[in-house]
Amino acid sequence: MNDRAQQQRVIEVRFPFTGEVVGTVPMATVAEVREAFAAAHKYKPKLTRYDRASIMQKAAALLRDRVGPASDLITRESGLSKKDSTYEVGRVCDVLTFSAMEALKDDGQAFSCDLTPHGKQRRVYTKRDPLLGVISAITPFNHPMNQVAHKVCPSIATNNRMVLKPSEKTPLSAYYLAELLYEAGLPREMFRVITGDPREIADELITNEHVDLVTFTGGVAVGKYIASKAGYRRIVLELGGNDPIIVMEDADIEEAATLASQGSYKNSGQRCTAVKRMIVHESVADHFVELLVAKTKAWTFGDPMNAKLEMGTVIDESAAKLFEARVNEAVSQGAKLLVGNQRQGALYSPTVLDRVDPKMTVAMQETFGPVSPVIRFKTIDEAIAISNGTAYGLSSAVCTNRLDYINRFVSELQVGTVNVREVPGYRLELTPFGGIKDSGLGYKEGVQEAIKSFTNLKTFSLPN
Ligand code: NAD
Repeated sequence: MNDRAQQQRVIEVRFPFTGEVVGTVPMATVAEVREAFAAAHKYKPKLTRYDRASIMQKAAALLRDRVGPASDLITRESGLSKKDSTYEVGRVCDVLTFSAMEALKDDGQAFSCDLTPHGKQRRVYTKRDPLLGVISAITPFNHPMNQVAHKVCPSIATNNRMVLKPSEKTPLSAYYLAELLYEAGLPREMFRVITGDPREIADELITNEHVDLVTFTGGVAVGKYIASKAGYRRIVLELGGNDPIIVMEDADIEEAATLASQGSYKNSGQRCTAVKRMIVHESVADHFVELLVAKTKAWTFGDPMNAKLEMGTVIDESAAKLFEARVNEAVSQGAKLLVGNQRQGALYSPTVLDRVDPKMTVAMQETFGPVSPVIRFKTIDEAIAISNGTAYGLSSAVCTNRLDYINRFVSELQVGTVNVREVPGYRLELTPFGGIKDSGLGYKEGVQEAIKSFTNLKTFSLPN
């Protein structure tokens, strides 16, 4: 942030490929954040389920007509390729559609009370109410629009009020989605985007008196800071990952190498569920590495606005420099660099490192970019131990057809998700998603689960 921007209280948003300024957003003061929460708290949403579903269906239809401009915006502020940003816009349409669908469902339960000898002629019922206070949402840079959609859509579906702070690196997509929702009929009081410097306003977003729930997606360090600050209020933390793809000796190696490369390079490797470690049985490792290197060399990258290329930049130059440094450190410790580790500004080439020791930094820490460290193993016990041997526990992929192996992975991997013969990131926007250990507290997101955490379950009983 330069001095002029600081004085004018704006944040400049830059295209990571060229550094050009592509927009500015306000840099809110603490007083403005307080006003936003007070205004949201004062408003009492009255939308029917039909209203909420209609708004989100309309927003999905509007967005489907604007895929081009919406994906251009994501690409310009994040450096993600047009392929990645176009895919992301499709995901946002899915979140809107699923949330509209869920808004129409009443998930209340009814329990007869004459089930035991001391029963009564009554019934207990449940219903879900919006929170009494306001939801505070904080999102990361890596899916600038879809992360915002995963916060706001379940909030609308449940008639809540939300104040959301997007990443200061990619705030334009959040405003874009907000305007789209207002155009579709959402009362402005139900959703407010606020942008600013987290060092200045983040504490207010966590501790404001009107905040009932903080829902955060981002890195482990900030997530743990929020946990230490939030006090007596609900928190949902969706944090970093270090997801493995485990390739057993019976796997279809062509399929495994395809999943591994796609899982590692899509979205410039910046998915919380990107493949960050390739844990491969030694008997098939040479074959796997040969295919992986070929697929890596074929993975096109460059100007993010060039719709023909697979991959754009990473978020900024300092992120690219960090990957370069970690790869160089691994090489100095004995790993073999087979392709990549070329950097030009924020452009970082897809990279394969073979013979990586699981304790090297590149494999122990979340390396949030297009880096493929290959770790070889001899037995399934070793594969499980390596997989479980970091602080993270988000998702995983396993490549095998053997039911005995699959059963062991499903029961023994310490993660939120096990995908057999799919990338770790595979899911529907509707399905439960989230991690354990440092990746999260076990409370899930995905539209259905977010609806649960965004509501108070009330029980009531009636004579019957
Ligand atoms: P980050 O933690 O640096 O920032 C995330 C958000 O937190 C931003 O909006 C930032 O402004 C805000 N923030 C910064 N300091 C804060 C503070 N002290 N208090 C409150 N908020 C603060 O993460 P990032 O670099 O934007 O995103 C990348 C990380 O997000 C990766 O670790 C990735 O794995 C993770 N992520 C997790 C999931 C998931 O669902 N588990 C999904 C996507 C990304």
